[in-house]
Amino acid sequence: MKFSKMFIPTTKETPNDATLPSHQFLVRAGFIAQTGAGIYDFMPLGKIVLDKIRAIVKEEMDEAGANEVQFGFVTPLSLWQESGRATTMGPELLRFKDRKNADFVLSPTNEEAVVNMVKNRITSYKDLPINLYQIYTKFRDEARPRFGLMRGREFLMKDAYSFHATQEDLVREFELMEATYKRVYERLGLEFRVVEADSGAIGGSGSKEFHVLANSGEDTIVVCDSCDYGANIEAAKRKKRHFTPWFENTEIDVKQERVETVGFKTIEEVSNFLSVSQAQTIKAVIKTAVYEEEKKVVVFFVRGDDELEETKACNSVDALELLDSSEDEITQAGLCAGYVGPFNLPAGITFVIDEEIKGEHGLVCGANEENYHLTGTDLSSLKDATYFDLVAVQEGDKCNCCGGELRYTKGIEAGHIFQLGSKYSEAMEANFLDANGKSQPFIMGCYGIGVSRLVAAVIEQNHDEKGCIWTKTTAPFLVDVIVSNAKKDDELNAGLEIYEGLKKAGISTIIDDRTKERFGFKMGDFELIGFPYAVVVGKKLTEGFVEIVERKTLEKQEVALDKVVETLQTLIAQ
Ligand code: ATP
Ligand code: MG
Repeated sequence: MKFSKMFIPTTKETPNDATLPSHQFLVRAGFIAQTGAGIYDFMPLGKIVLDKIRAIVKEEMDEAGANEVQFGFVTPLSLWQESGRATTMGPELLRFKDRKNADFVLSPTNEEAVVNMVKNRITSYKDLPINLYQIYTKFRDEARPRFGLMRGREFLMKDAYSFHATQEDLVREFELMEATYKRVYERLGLEFRVVEADSGAIGGSGSKEFHVLANSGEDTIVVCDSCDYGANIEAAKRKKRHFTPWFENTEIDVKQERVETVGFKTIEEVSNFLSVSQAQTIKAVIKTAVYEEEKKVVVFFVRGDDELEETKACNSVDALELLDSSEDEITQAGLCAGYVGPFNLPAGITFVIDEEIKGEHGLVCGANEENYHLTGTDLSSLKDATYFDLVAVQEGDKCNCCGGELRYTKGIEAGHIFQLGSKYSEAMEANFLDANGKSQPFIMGCYGIGVSRLVAAVIEQNHDEKGCIWTKTTAPFLVDVIVSNAKKDDELNAGLEIYEGLKKAGISTIIDDRTKERFGFKMGDFELIGFPYAVVVGKKLTEGFVEIVERKTLEKQEVALDKVVETLQTLIAQ
């Protein structure tokens, strides 16, 4: 490809809202152009990169035996009513009406569409398993589209859905998809980590995310330094902590007591006043849980030195979301802020206690009475309490698998695989006949890869202050032949010869043959766009030499004209 014939509008201008390097560089280097909030066009170089990533994803999915399909981008709302998601999905689901006043949505994901495709077409266990996928546009009316391709409203996703007769077969496919995804990210040249993920309201352990490691990642991932354990903070577990109360192993029988704590409301104030560690107190976190048709105040209890993990908390009460409760809501619920505890709560209040403090003895908590706390409590005496893992694992906590130290790292969610079970097939009455002739709902898995997000993720992980540094498999072209002065025939001809030679050797190459631009400008474009290598045809040409520049290190080496192809082949193969 020739620069002079390609539309590559590079610019020095950074969009005002672009805080991430990938957003800045992809716009500045002419890969993408924004047309609306969270909506981007792919210009020629961007389209090449997108297609390269898409091709790798397709090859690996096909290799795994999945079938490519394409669902309509527009789906009738009726399918979403069948599954129940028309009401649970919220404002991310963009709905609209056609001229006949019929309701439609722009597909944010396709569980309903795929169940509709398979229903009544696959009727016997003999035709299972099957895995159907597409690589196609999605639309989610994200509340805060940002970071360029990272969180768009319109984006490209590979979504796959598998159908099985048994749970064991689903697990087999889930593991196959995990291996397939690993190959995809390895081939893309990315450093990534597979982590346990939140399975949402469906629960279970069958959900894993694939994170591209980058400081700018929106997700906090908990990893163990001594073993393979990794989990999104929304799902991370740690070794149970236990703090021995002072009276343990003594004859002293500590009883629950009501003590005056006038004006002391925070964990810090109470623990200082009563001379106990914060770990030996119970913290109450009051939230308003939002459901389809109601809102209610819910209290979560965690150890005083722990923090509530909102996703876990939300799952524990099956809510759509949790909001901070207002002072009015707290008072109306009969709660006394600063003095809330799990004993003697006002009737009807829903509360959940963190699993870690189940059965603990001797903790301090609010007495549900202004200016009073309880000491010496015994949680095992609480009847009908619900326990759930509610806490955010902290750095330094111990790994539940090996006892090693846990720490945080940042990741970009680039893929998510999920054991769905029969949630959608049951709701949409999609059944098959099993080996005994009995009708059963399909057991399903679903598997997503953020194809357009990956374009940004490659750059988040691979850039410097000058611009993009594409990995070899994602680069729009591997080599940029820069003709220093394309007005000079000998330079242009030598450049074209190298360009043809590289193409013949199967190396994807672009030649910067622009006559209007000076050498410095072309070099700047090379650095900004981030082709892995440049061949500079310039001053030394008369002596039979050109320069090969590696984008990553910006190191240069002089190479004889007849050694260019060979040298690049060696470099590329490394
Ligand atoms: P996130 O937590 O980042 O909002 P999600 O969990 O809602 O993502 P999934 O439903 O698991 O996303 O979708 C599968 C993949 O699609 C994600 O792993 C991610 O790579 C990609 N993806 C999701 N939302 C967006 C978006 N708004 N823009 C670009 N890619 C996205
Ligand atoms: Mg996800």
